[in-house]
Amino acid sequence: MDEKGLKFFEELLQSRLDALLSEALETVTDLSEGEENFADPTDRATAESDRNFLLRIRDRERKLIVKIQEALERVADKTYGVCEGCGEEIGRKRLEARPVTTQCIDCKTEAELREKTGS
Ligand SMILES: [Zn+2]
Repeated sequence: MDEKGLKFFEELLQSRLDALLSEALETVTDLSEGEENFADPTDRATAESDRNFLLRIRDRERKLIVKIQEALERVADKTYGVCEGCGEEIGRKRLEARPVTTQCIDCKTEAELREKTGS
């Protein structure tokens, strides 16, 4: 990918990362503010499942944050946009839709098929 393309995706990835980090921070703040006394056990159960939900979101966010950081590293060493499966350049449209992707659509489809059939 040329310098212009790398710069474009660096900015795109960086802004996604910033948004995710501030979201994650808000989730953490919500969690620590949720320390109330629940007299009613039903309320408590709801609060507990809410908390599980938040933790799950945080886990998903954390994974995405790591993926974005890895993508930024690939931008830095100029390997960004190259498919890890076949070594071909990943289509620009696909990268714009999913900038953390590491595989071209062909390799991704193949990988998903393998997952489904379990082989
Ligand atoms: Zn490929």
